[in-house]
Parts: sequence; C-alpha cells; structure tokens
Amino acid sequence: MLVNRTAPLAALLVAVTGVFVWSQLPYRLPSPGEDFELVALVVLDNVRADRTGLCGHARVPTPALEDACSRPGAACSCAGVSPAPWTLASHASYFTGLPVHEHGADIGGSVSVGFSTARPLSDDPETLAEHFRARGFQTLGISANPVVSPETGLARGFDELKVAPAFGSWREGLLEEELRELLSRADGDKPVFLFVNIIDAHEPWPPVPAGTPGFDAAHEAVFYKHDEDALPWTLMNGHLSADAADAEKERIRAVYDYAVAHADGTLGRVLGALDGAGWTEGRHRVVITSDHGELLGEEELLGHTTPVMFDGVVGVPFVAFGSEPAPALPSRVGATEAHALLVDWSLAGHPVASEATPNPGFSKRLGWEVHPGAAVWLDEDTKWLSHRGEAYLGDHSAARPLDEAPEALRERLDALRSLASDEDESGATDHLRALGYLE
Ligand SMILES: [Zn+2]
Repeated sequence: MLVNRTAPLAALLVAVTGVFVWSQLPYRLPSPGEDFELVALVVLDNVRADRTGLCGHARVPTPALEDACSRPGAACSCAGVSPAPWTLASHASYFTGLPVHEHGADIGGSVSVGFSTARPLSDDPETLAEHFRARGFQTLGISANPVVSPETGLARGFDELKVAPAFGSWREGLLEEELRELLSRADGDKPVFLFVNIIDAHEPWPPVPAGTPGFDAAHEAVFYKHDEDALPWTLMNGHLSADAADAEKERIRAVYDYAVAHADGTLGRVLGALDGAGWTEGRHRVVITSDHGELLGEEELLGHTTPVMFDGVVGVPFVAFGSEPAPALPSRVGATEAHALLVDWSLAGHPVASEATPNPGFSKRLGWEVHPGAAVWLDEDTKWLSHRGEAYLGDHSAARPLDEAPEALRERLDALRSLASDEDESGATDHLRALGYLE
C-alpha cells in the first residue's frame, strides 16, 4: 500500500489547498449583526466514510472534516447512513427529513423537468428552506451538482439557489468564489439558512498529478460510466484476471481518494469563508455529511446509483457543530437526524429512523439485473441486504434469507420493485444519459 501518514500527506495538503487565498477573492461576506444566526447543511457529494482520514483512512487526510469534528461541542460519526444511493433522492430526504418512499423524488416517472424523467420533489413536504424562510431567514444555496436544481424541485424555499452548469465545473476555488459572491449579497442583520453541495469527490474525477506523494503515475482519471470498453467495465463484467482486477481496483481507489482529498480541501475553503467573516462566532449550527458513497470494486461493482446497498455506497461521514453542544448521536445517523438537528438542534422526539432506500430501477437500466439487492435499516442494529440472489444480515458476511426479514421490509421492497417496473424505460435511459451515467 502507498501509505505514509506524515510528510507525503503534508505535501498532498499543500497541493490540494494551496490554489487560492481567500483574502484575494473580491467578494466579502457582511459582518454579522445582533440578529444574525447561521444554520448550514453542507453535503460532500459522493464521499464514503471509510475513505476519509476522519474515519481512519490513512492515505487521505481530511483536515477540514477533522477540524469540524474537533470544534467544542461537536458530535461526529463514521456511521452515517445516506438515505439513497444517488443525489436527487438523497438530497430530497435531507431537505424534508423523509425517507425516499415517502417524499417520492427519485429516478423514473413521467414529469418533464428538462432532462425528462426524474420524479421531482413534489410540492407537499415542507423543505428546510421553506421552514427557515417562514421564520424570517434568508435562504441561500449553492450546488456544484446540477441535479440539485429548480428542475428537480429542490430549489423550493430558497431565496436563491446557485447551480453549477455541469458536473465538475465548480471545484475548489471556483465553488468558494461562487459562494462568496452569493453570500456577499446577504443582509448581515438577518439570519441565514445556507446549503452547500461540494462536488469534488464525484465524477468526472481529475487525474492525479505526476509526483503526488502517495500516488503513482498509473493513477489516471477513470470515466467508467462512459466507456464500456474501458477497464472498469471489463472489471464489472468479470472479464479481468484476478491480478488485473486488483490492479484496476487500486487505480480507481487512488483516483477516488485523491478526489476526496480535494472535496475536503473545498470544505476547508467553505468553512474558512464562514469562520473568516465571523459567521460561526455567534449563534450557529452546521451539519456536514454526504448524499451517498461510491462502490470501489466490492464484489466487482463500481459507482453509486445502485440497488446494491453495501456500506461503501451508504456509509457516509456525519459531523454536527454549533454554538450550543450537539446532542449525542445514535449508533447510525442519517437524513432524519440531520433534518432534526438543523431545525431545532435536538433529537428528542425523533426516534432513530435512518434508513437507506435502494432503487431497483437502476439495476435494470444499468444492466445489473443479475444483481438484485436491497438494504434498509429498520432499527439501530439490523441491516438486511440481498445481493446476487442471496440475502445477508449486516454486511455481506453473515447470511440470512431475506424472506426472514420483517414483513414491513418485504412490503417496502415489493413496492419499490413494482414502482421500478412501472417506469418509462426509454425516458429513464435518456435521463441517465443526461446525468452522465450512461453513454
Ligand atoms: Zn450525489
């Protein structure tokens, strides 16, 4: 393994964080007045917990996450549960506090939203932005992921939601500059609800520059969802020898790790902008988590947008800090808890309801029919998972037949499968192409 936890990591940090100096940027945030309060949700798109330094992954330092976690009264977890394996469904859960089967925003459906077949968030459930706007907050958002947009219903309640024109167009300093421009127009005498999506860990991933400590020249960018002849697809189809498959997994993991380091660097810029303007000195509460992880070769699977809900795709970091100490977090923490913390900084009256909802429709569209799978947390301790016709409890090491699962779970899975089979397949394929998931 390519691990040295000291000097090379310091050099990597300089490479990741040294591009912009915030004070050189033209936009200044207003100074907070007496009535100012900050409530912020920051989503590190596509960051799985076990590839962060915060959660013990030695190759990738995540000083911004670790700094957030070490603030007085912060509560942190490496057992966050993303509510869904892709951006729209997951963000809708963070915004509403509801699981996917209740808010309904997901792949498929027939509503035209510009890229044709997403089921946008309906007008019914109140969003965080609506909640805070009704209480006199300025509601401001910036999304480097174009899926979080007015077209998907996720802009509802924002006074302004700035959305990147494409995946990867707002990374690092560019996101910070757009954020500063947005916040420079805020009124320092009114409270602010802020949402930020950081895209650096999501494809398209940048190549790892030659000479980067901890990485070698073979760690080039990979775009496996766009080229079926490329090594990643042959890996997923089982056409590589064991040695070649191991080498390909290592290449993908290195590129991903490097991208996660960049995501943490961008998080540092965002928190630095807020700290530097004094926005975290008075009343504030901040939740930092991710909308989903990324499979990196487990069972020869890659990517997210998958019905196979291994920990790699639903295990995300979770950090909450504020001017008042955060409440103790349950053993698994997800969108319901994030929503409750942002609304009133309390988990009282919010029994653990974290669950991850798979989307069987994706397996069909991506040619993974042979990999039916699903996982839902029904309580703090139990995860049911099925994969390749077998069923497992916990991660995929201790098998239990899925037909032993609680009735409520089996009903949920049946409902999801029937939802997927009702979708407009041609429209869904167009949608996936528009999102970059298919060629
Ligand atoms: Zn996402």
